[in-house]
Amino acid sequence: MSTSKSIPEPAVAATTTGPGNFIRDIVVEDLKTNKYGGRVQTRFPPEPNGYLHIGHAKSICLNFGLAAEFGGKTNLRFDDTNPSKEETEYVDSIIEDVRWLGFDWEDRLFYASDYFGQLYEWAVQLIQAGKAYVDDLSAEEMREYRGTLTKPGKDSPYRNRSVEENLSLFEKMRAGEFPDGSRVLRAKIDMSSPNLNLRDPVMYRILHAEHHRTGDQWCIYPMYDFAHGESDSIEHITHSICTLEFEDHRPLYNWFVEELGIFHPQQIEFDRLNLTYTLLSKRKLLQLVQNGNVRGWDDPRMPTLSGMRRRGYTPEAIRNFCNAIGVSKTNGIIELAMLEHYLREDLNKRALRVMAVLRPLKVVIDNYPEGQVEQMDAVNNPEDASAGTRKAPFSRVLYIEQDDFRENPPKQYYRLSPGHEVRLRYGYFITCTRVVKDETTGEVVEVHCTYDPATRGGNAPDGRKVKATIHWVSAEHAVNAEVRLYENLFSKENPDEVEEGKDFTANLNPNSLEIVTNAKLEPSLANAVPGSRYQFERLGYFCVDKDSSPGKLVFNRTVPLKDTWAKIEKREAKTT
Ligand code: ATP
Ligand code: MG
Repeated sequence: MSTSKSIPEPAVAATTTGPGNFIRDIVVEDLKTNKYGGRVQTRFPPEPNGYLHIGHAKSICLNFGLAAEFGGKTNLRFDDTNPSKEETEYVDSIIEDVRWLGFDWEDRLFYASDYFGQLYEWAVQLIQAGKAYVDDLSAEEMREYRGTLTKPGKDSPYRNRSVEENLSLFEKMRAGEFPDGSRVLRAKIDMSSPNLNLRDPVMYRILHAEHHRTGDQWCIYPMYDFAHGESDSIEHITHSICTLEFEDHRPLYNWFVEELGIFHPQQIEFDRLNLTYTLLSKRKLLQLVQNGNVRGWDDPRMPTLSGMRRRGYTPEAIRNFCNAIGVSKTNGIIELAMLEHYLREDLNKRALRVMAVLRPLKVVIDNYPEGQVEQMDAVNNPEDASAGTRKAPFSRVLYIEQDDFRENPPKQYYRLSPGHEVRLRYGYFITCTRVVKDETTGEVVEVHCTYDPATRGGNAPDGRKVKATIHWVSAEHAVNAEVRLYENLFSKENPDEVEEGKDFTANLNPNSLEIVTNAKLEPSLANAVPGSRYQFERLGYFCVDKDSSPGKLVFNRTVPLKDTWAKIEKREAKTT
């Protein structure tokens, strides 16, 4: 089941989690009843086994947003209990990404691995209380004994070991006396519980693996369910917010803290973010990276925060989006178009406008004096007067977009065509007089025009109108650039929907990256630095890629502007 949300009206409040957020309601109520002495303490607990994605951003905004709203604090805690999949590269990228999103954990950067000593002591405490035991069953046998949703489980033959024997075995597990997988420590709860998570869940496993922080100090590692709630408790987290798949784990979360008699945080579950045309699973994203389907975790087509940053997303756009989608108790799917809506809305406010031609077509203005150059005033951002103006050089030979010229224009095509007059943005009215074609291919390679000197700046004194304004770049002054145009990484709304025997990579969009190598930019962009964002007038928002070097600019298309012409063309194609 999925609920689909349409694009809301643009004016949605920013930065704080608004009303109608059920988790916020719980926090408000807890503050009213003084449940935690007026404290709000949340945490964001990533496992450092991949880069953060837009789904994590939802959780980050929620945790940091709620605490900030009520004068509380948020910890960043690495849930690093699985040494085989975790790396410092991931730790570093996560720190960078959370900071980039605009959140601050001050001095509260924690690692679950810092708690390994305490967790071990608590495990011993549970053994002493007769609430945990060492089990020698193999993984396979444990599965069999576990039962199913309709069939109760069976007690392990090792379940009733004495406390002394359990203590001694657990100590030996820790001392490295047993091989991987030979024994586990389990909580002694109820093998016939209707909740499978309570059927004596595993607390510790043996794993002789090097940990990125604790090295070879440990060869037993706590399982998520044991480590997570106890880490929350150590940090005195008040509201432990996690995604819905952990709802069935909540009774176990509560069991551990209650049996140990330690501080009891409250676990609250919300819906994971799902986006159309997008995969939000670190495992699958890692697969794309390892397969070489993308150029790395920060490939601008990836839904990772590093990929989105490289593509040109702003933290504000992501935060506004996360805020607008809110949280709920049922999983749904959000339209990618909604994310892009918040992106455009933010870029519209901040991106400087410039003129750039992606697929150049040469225009020669025959009656414009040879060698003359005029500096035309161009507005940097019509949404922000303080952004000022700049000069754009105008000369006899220009480039325009190939798409802005048609030798045989279809109906409703108002841009340049033989005999037609258009406005050059910030320039003059020009009229096409003739074309020059490549003799062998017949392709138009040059368009000749005349200009009306009385229309400088874009208006005719006689009041005559033109129906189109097109952008241009002076050929002599143009700066070359490579521009990378992106489409959705997947061609299916649900990338996981595949035929039997195939996996999600079957839905990769073969056209997700198109590289334009000969774009022409206005000279004001010559020294643009990586990360800076622009609106290329009429084309979309673009961002300088980190592959740029002086003299060799590379841009990413962040998102196109809405393309109304394509819509008209589509409609035309349907009706004719
Ligand atoms: P994945 O399935 O991508 O590996 P995960 O849940 O295992 O994700 P964690 O590193 O454990 O990844 O996630 C850290 C926090 O981010 C958790 O609290 C988790 O609930 C939350 N989170 C992860 N994915 C999403 C998502 N798509 N929407 C909202 N929150 C998410
Ligand atoms: Mg996880």
